[in-house]
Amino acid sequence: MAGSPNAPVRVGVLALQGDFREHLAVLRTLGADAIPVRRPEELTDIGGLVIPGGESSVMDKLSRAFGLAEPLKRAIADGMPVYGTCAGLIMLADTVIDAIRGQESLGGLDVSVRRNAFGSQLDSFETDLDIPAVGAEPMHAVFIRAPIVETLGEKATALASLDDGRIVAVEQGNLIGTSFHPEVTNDLRFHEYFLRKVRDAAR
Ligand code: GLN
Repeated sequence: MAGSPNAPVRVGVLALQGDFREHLAVLRTLGADAIPVRRPEELTDIGGLVIPGGESSVMDKLSRAFGLAEPLKRAIADGMPVYGTCAGLIMLADTVIDAIRGQESLGGLDVSVRRNAFGSQLDSFETDLDIPAVGAEPMHAVFIRAPIVETLGEKATALASLDDGRIVAVEQGNLIGTSFHPEVTNDLRFHEYFLRKVRDAAR
């Protein structure tokens, strides 16, 4: 079964805080067996994880308080596919600029990201992005107090940029991060892309 392209895959969504319900709904729409993850034991049941949007400093505190941070770092290092949106991208970044005092990230992506990079003047906005990795059709992207990728390390690849060149989607091995929130639009191509990685990793 595991090798069949249409076998249902079990994936988790980190459900400590943020818009995890939207991600669960999208993943289930795509046929995945998606479960909320709040405890370290739950990580052993899944082939991949989505880290949702929300507030990275809170997610960081809760993941450490619930004993999830270290097992998550190990899972990332072991090659588990993980897709982070917005606050989730911040959690996956090796370096976080404009973090709150004491804020840590899980790391894994060889990038530095700046939190709340668009300032209060432009808190939230929408735009269309060209993202060849997921298909020729442009993707409508929703940004909400979004981070940007300020520096791209050698190991990471940019998947999408704004017109001014600032990077808003990255990939590195089994990790994907987007500044924006595909879970709030009907464009499910990033979640499909993530599920393909999960299926490939299960092989
Ligand atoms: N500004 C939030 C943070 O720093 C991210 C916002 C979001 O996930 N929509 O975590």
